[in-house]
Amino acid sequence: MRQRVFLKLLLLILGVIAVTTVTLDLLVRRSWEASVFSQLDQELKEKVELFATRADHEQGQVPLDQLAREVSAATQVRATIIDRSGRVLADSEAQPAGMENHSTRPEFVRALEGQLGSDTRTSRTLGIQFRYVAAPTSFGAVRLAYPLSQVEAHITHVHHQLLKALALSLVVGLAIALIGAHSISRRLRRMAAFAQEIAAGNFSARLPRSGRDEIGLLAMTLERTAGQLESNFRNLESSRQQLETLLNSMEDAVVAVSAKRAVVWFNGAMKSLSASSIAVGMPIIRALRDPDLLRAVADVLEQGKAQSATLYSVVPGRTFAMTSAPLPDGGAVCVLRDSTEIQRVERTRRDFIANVSHELRTPLTSLLGYTETLLDEMADAKTREFLEIIRRNAQRMSRLTEDLLTLARVESGEYPLEQAAVSTHELLKDAQISFTEVAKTKGLSIAIEHTLDGYVFADRDAIHQVFANLIDNALKYATGTKTIQLGAIERLQQVEFYVRDFGPGIPSEHLARLFERFYRVDKARSREAGGTGLGLAIVKHIVLNHGGEAGVTSELGHGSVFWFRLPLSPINADIGHEAGAKVSS
Ligand code: ADP
Repeated sequence: MRQRVFLKLLLLILGVIAVTTVTLDLLVRRSWEASVFSQLDQELKEKVELFATRADHEQGQVPLDQLAREVSAATQVRATIIDRSGRVLADSEAQPAGMENHSTRPEFVRALEGQLGSDTRTSRTLGIQFRYVAAPTSFGAVRLAYPLSQVEAHITHVHHQLLKALALSLVVGLAIALIGAHSISRRLRRMAAFAQEIAAGNFSARLPRSGRDEIGLLAMTLERTAGQLESNFRNLESSRQQLETLLNSMEDAVVAVSAKRAVVWFNGAMKSLSASSIAVGMPIIRALRDPDLLRAVADVLEQGKAQSATLYSVVPGRTFAMTSAPLPDGGAVCVLRDSTEIQRVERTRRDFIANVSHELRTPLTSLLGYTETLLDEMADAKTREFLEIIRRNAQRMSRLTEDLLTLARVESGEYPLEQAAVSTHELLKDAQISFTEVAKTKGLSIAIEHTLDGYVFADRDAIHQVFANLIDNALKYATGTKTIQLGAIERLQQVEFYVRDFGPGIPSEHLARLFERFYRVDKARSREAGGTGLGLAIVKHIVLNHGGEAGVTSELGHGSVFWFRLPLSPINADIGHEAGAKVSS
């Protein structure tokens, strides 16, 4: 760096000197030369005029060659006198007899015409360059000749002086460049070393004060930036430590994965979960060998959306509920919560309900049977009324136990669905046929409003149960209306089935909770209609088990639309048709 700064400074100074030299040489020296010549000319003219005046006065009194010599001695230049014909009468440097006629010399041509004449050329007589100036006289003309070699020697001398001055300034310039480069590069080197220390994370490094010029200002700014960086880094480090402590104190296991599916970070809980001691940089597939986890991570990385899954093979015999979410840098973070105990409690609860329901079934059937027998035999009105109440309640309890059993079964998900490609239209048709008679007794008709040719991947009996619960509700709550509409439309790569009634509708505040077990809008009305409060919960779980979803839209006074979506069959239409036909046969 030092060399480069030095070279640059040197080049700069050389450039400045070159420009100065050219400027001095071209402009100053030339104009100085021109002024020297014009001054010489002026002096020569004045002298030649004096010479002419003197020649006119002293002609005939003083011999001309003496006059020429005197003038030459006084003016330090060569003096020549000619007559009108150009013949040389006297010359201070040569013998006039040996000199040729001068009438054709340019300066004499002008002088003989009565004006001042001048010319610069090499003398044929003496062989050196002269500046000639001639003036007219009464008998001819006089001339002074100044040898230019004198002027040129002077100019050359000045030129040499100039070159010496330039050489000196070059040496001084080089010295300045060297000192300047040394100082600048030393300060820059200190700054570079400081920046390297900071980049290496040594925030305690300091930069010595170095003047108030731009470099000093830069050093100050650099130091301030380093201070800012240090404080940001400390804050970041403390946030990181807080986060790390928090995550390590969590019971949930947390692991962060890079976009390349390598482990970036994990907490203590995750370390104790991983069979093959998890480490940073290890591929996640080696750290946690659960296929559902790997699939969820892949989905998060590809789609950039949060995913959840239940993991069964992270630790044998234990279940984990996992949520995986995308990270801003393109990776994913997975949080695993041990749900083994919750699931065990949940299963115990379900088993208990199922067992109780199952145990109640037989006594209830017997109770109903005896009540009905007694009803057939009793004629006493009061007794019949009581027996009727017993029968109604026994029927309600029986329905309740049946619904509880069904719900426990579908909730547990332990009874696998027999899914196959089923014709959408056949599902609608089955539902319509099954309920047409019951509907008729209530003065209602069931119509298929919209149908589809496609196939859904579903358990035919389970979906029939869904339709049964929805149509049963419509028959119960939409009394006094005329039609119940069934239909299927394609939506979001799924088939959406719906059951629409034109009954009283449901107030909007109840809609969100309608599918919860035992949730009823009007308890008395539900009980009176023979409801258990479990129908929609059963619907929800069956649909969820299919990987679909269920919902409702309703408008007070205008009726309700209960819908559920099922996945389209992955099998193509032809195979699907066969499968559908098999189910229906
Ligand atoms: P229930 O056995 O009481 O009918 P469900 O779970 O089937 O239980 O339904 C829950 C509640 O949703 C019902 O009690 C009723 O208030 C309301 N509901 C269900 N279907 C309809 C409908 N078609 N019209 C109006 N209300 C309905």
